[in-house]
Amino acid sequence: MRVLVTGGAGFIGSNLCERLLASGNEVLCMDNFYTGSKNNIKEFLDNPSFEVIRHDISVPFNIEADFIVNLACPASVPHYQKDPLKTMKDNVFGIFNVMENARRLKIPVLHTSTSEVYGSPSVHPQPENYNGNVNPVSIRSCYDEGKRAAETILFDYNRQYKTEIKVIRVFNTYGPKMLENDGRVVSNFIVQALKGEDLTVYGNGKQTRSFCYVSDLIDGIILFMNDKSGFNGPVNMGNNYEFTIEDFAKLVLSVTGSKSKLKFIDLPKDDPIQRNPDLTIAKKMLGYNPKVSIDEGLKKTAEYFKKIVKI
Ligand code: UDP
Repeated sequence: MRVLVTGGAGFIGSNLCERLLASGNEVLCMDNFYTGSKNNIKEFLDNPSFEVIRHDISVPFNIEADFIVNLACPASVPHYQKDPLKTMKDNVFGIFNVMENARRLKIPVLHTSTSEVYGSPSVHPQPENYNGNVNPVSIRSCYDEGKRAAETILFDYNRQYKTEIKVIRVFNTYGPKMLENDGRVVSNFIVQALKGEDLTVYGNGKQTRSFCYVSDLIDGIILFMNDKSGFNGPVNMGNNYEFTIEDFAKLVLSVTGSKSKLKFIDLPKDDPIQRNPDLTIAKKMLGYNPKVSIDEGLKKTAEYFKKIVKI
């Protein structure tokens, strides 16, 4: 089948393109290269089943495809906050443009939403029926509320036009093809550890996150793409092994064998204090089961960064 992957040159997008090509699909990769990288897709350029379209999804487009996976949006905190109005446009105008193609072609859309729809959660771990604790006027709202609005638009296309939708809420994911300057905790800590710089722990480091290796998330996306049960989600995907950020920093030091120290600096505004996916629905409806241990995932990610980072 021919799959349009929006955000196909990004971290998750390029890992998905690789998997789709390996299983015999044609891939149309759409990216505006705002945070996507040509390096992430250069290995596919000689593959006749791979095409790249330089385009911004917030601008209308017409394509021919059998399936759309929507991943286009700057996703790390510093990148989505750099131009917040653009982030909102990518989420809202972008999903309208995606859904209009899906409606015209009568094809399914798998959309990657986010754990950020739960805001700073007061229910822990977060099940899908928890409606979240989101501030509409915070510096994170362009992403949180943008992604919430996108979910609303998807479900209204489904109710109004019967467009087939599959909505995943992605929890913190890491792995090869992340940007060195992404600003996410995993890439920051690994790059700092490799360079022998202090690891910048924000706040007191007691906030928690649960980290999913990218191949596990891709497994989940493929399971959902292939699911014929009519299940629309939303469904959490990630790994539910939870760490405090301080403990996670220590783990990165141990896995990389780095002698760096921890440096505690100010906590960014509205940083959620805890996050952990309830994976009951993903397991039950899709047989999703993340397999890669954090040690193994961090080792593979550190190997990747050793190749691309100037030490
Ligand atoms: N964080 C940190 N040091 C960094 C980057 C992030 O301590 O250099 C913390 C951040 O405050 C948050 C957690 O790590 O509590 C995860 O941050 P990230 O930006 O990776 O993702 P988020 O889950 O906040 O979107």
